Amino acid sequence: METLEFQAEARQLLQLMVHSIYSNKDIFLRELISNASDALDKVRLAAFQDKDLNAETSDLHIELEADKQQRTLTVRDNGIGMSRDEVVDLIGTIAKSGTAELLRKLKESKDSSADLIGQFGVGFYSSFMVADKVTLVTRKAGQSQGTRWESEGEGTYTIDSVDDAPQGTSVTLHLKPEDAEDHLFDYTAEYKIREIVRRYSDFITWPVRLKVEKTENDETKTEFETINSMKALWARSKDEVAEDEYKEFYRHISHDWTDPLEIIQMQAEGTFEYQALLFIPSRAPLDLFMRESKRGPQLYVKRVFIMDECEALMPEYLRFVKGVVDAQDLSLNVSREILQQDRQIQLMRRRLVKKILSTIKSMDAEKYQTFWKEFGAAVKEGLVNDFDNRESILEIASFASTHDPEKPTTLKGYVERMKDGQEHIYYLTGASRSIIENSPHMEAFKAKGYEVLILTDAIDEMWVGSVPEFDGRQFQSVAKGQVDLDTGSDTEEKSKDFAGLLSWMTETLKDNIKEVRLSSRLTTSPACIVGDSNDVTPTLEKMYRAMGQELPPIKRILELNPDHALVTSLRKAHEENKEGAAETAELLYGIALLAEGGELADAPRFTRLLADRLAQAL
Ligand code: ADP
Repeated sequence: METLEFQAEARQLLQLMVHSIYSNKDIFLRELISNASDALDKVRLAAFQDKDLNAETSDLHIELEADKQQRTLTVRDNGIGMSRDEVVDLIGTIAKSGTAELLRKLKESKDSSADLIGQFGVGFYSSFMVADKVTLVTRKAGQSQGTRWESEGEGTYTIDSVDDAPQGTSVTLHLKPEDAEDHLFDYTAEYKIREIVRRYSDFITWPVRLKVEKTENDETKTEFETINSMKALWARSKDEVAEDEYKEFYRHISHDWTDPLEIIQMQAEGTFEYQALLFIPSRAPLDLFMRESKRGPQLYVKRVFIMDECEALMPEYLRFVKGVVDAQDLSLNVSREILQQDRQIQLMRRRLVKKILSTIKSMDAEKYQTFWKEFGAAVKEGLVNDFDNRESILEIASFASTHDPEKPTTLKGYVERMKDGQEHIYYLTGASRSIIENSPHMEAFKAKGYEVLILTDAIDEMWVGSVPEFDGRQFQSVAKGQVDLDTGSDTEEKSKDFAGLLSWMTETLKDNIKEVRLSSRLTTSPACIVGDSNDVTPTLEKMYRAMGQELPPIKRILELNPDHALVTSLRKAHEENKEGAAETAELLYGIALLAEGGELADAPRFTRLLADRLAQAL
């Protein structure tokens, strides 16, 4: 027998369970039945795929057995089981992405911990909410040696080999004393077990059998009684299923303890039959933007579980959608590789996507706002990747805008508010709302009363470049191209007056800038930097470089405000050949860069020049 230590993160999670943060402790049974159900799915599939696997699959089921004297409850399945190494890996450690992050957050915020941990699902460890000792005996299907694992939920567990374990896993809980005040009920009581199973696990597609005593003709005998209905929820019609049943099912597949925001049911009949039950969660998972985050519903074929996370059925930008798809006409032998090519799968995927997008479109305002706050940044990825549904995505998208600081706007709303003579949908990308709002590029748009979309998500930089228009109006960055806003100043005359300054400055700043010209977008700032219509923005340039792409240095255009004192004085200084004019030009460029939230290439030099200038002025 060996004594091993839990991985540090596992230990922390266990601590949370032992000193239980949940008031609802009943759910431990749901978690154990859920694991058992998965194990049965897996053994059926494994036996199907490997005819030589020596697995017993004739009577797959889950058994519950309570012992009032010993105060134990055992959950037993004859599923796939675990090898010794798997027990150590799967039960002794937590492999889930985002765990470290979650535990850090949990430590930071004491009050909302129950809320946070709900995003994560606790599985097997929830046993320690109700038990002070847990014994697990398991034998992997096809293997002869079994493994016995035991722990009191503190720092360590013991592990040992056993010879006579049946196939599958049994988990025996040595129950804590009953304590109604702490929501610790008598989990050996038949009525309690029935209640929990009916509530949380009724839809489990395997029989859950409870050992009960029956008295017939004065004779008492024990037998196993099936206490769940086993009806696959997705195959039942919507009015037959209670809202709560859907919610429990959602918990079962998603490990998210909050209710889903939206439940989507689809039943397609005819030549190509399938059922789908999809859920949009009410909040984003912690790993929504992590590279390894999984996606896709569970795939069943004729009620037989085939795989978790069937990515072929869901585009990446809808990776947060959970659920089940049950297809009638696929082979049980499908692999992930085959699925990617399969025409039926592609057709199904297309329909699922359309249905999800139309569901979002028909959400009421409050729901939609929650949805967009949680998932909008992911959905916008579809604007870049999903050409077919671009229009629909634009229709459901909303964006922060200068119109109302509190409320994002849809594009339709924007277009309705467009001013007479305004041709484009204007936007500015940047790191934050305040940087964008205060950027010099906005000045003339503000003065004209033109609304500007404020785009601050990383993905915004990508889609604005690839989406040409909405409702016939082009998207136009306020920081790109020539803007003719007719601000009233006589530009032609001014161009003549400033020609000397502009060509001299273009030469002076040629390492950083490709051209210096007069601006019609500025009302109060002396200068700003703009790109040509097709230029890559500085943020995008940075993103590309971070991804390891080689780019030639991108030079933009410096625009000057001919009415600003600094610019007119510089013109004079240049005409009079004053010393230091070149340095002032350089400072002017630096100021424009800082004003848009950019970074100076040589900050020490900039501050030195500026300090010198200030000293002189004083
Ligand atoms: P989760 O179920 O969320 O993955 P758990 O902590 O409940 O997390 O379980 C961890 C892993 O241990 C499972 O993913 C599964 O591989 C394995 N496991 C748990 N219970 C069983 C069981 N009854 N039979 C086989 N494997 C199991």
